[in-house]
Amino acid sequence: MKEGIHPKYHQAKVVCNCGNEFVTGSTKEDIHVEICSKCHSFYTGQQKAAAARGAIDKFNRKYGIGQDK
Ligand SMILES: [Zn+2]
Repeated sequence: MKEGIHPKYHQAKVVCNCGNEFVTGSTKEDIHVEICSKCHSFYTGQQKAAAARGAIDKFNRKYGIGQDK
């Protein structure tokens, strides 16, 4: 393989806003992303779960279910 034909290709560290880090092959050295494909579904899943819990708590408070005292 002759040099100079292909751009520099090395291991790039990708850092996501969620704190997840992974290494991928890229022409860039460091990549920062807001949401990575790996954690995106997990992140949105957490959001939905939190919203669902909030709705359940609201329901329970309204009808006095699950109160500590
Ligand atoms: Zn991420």
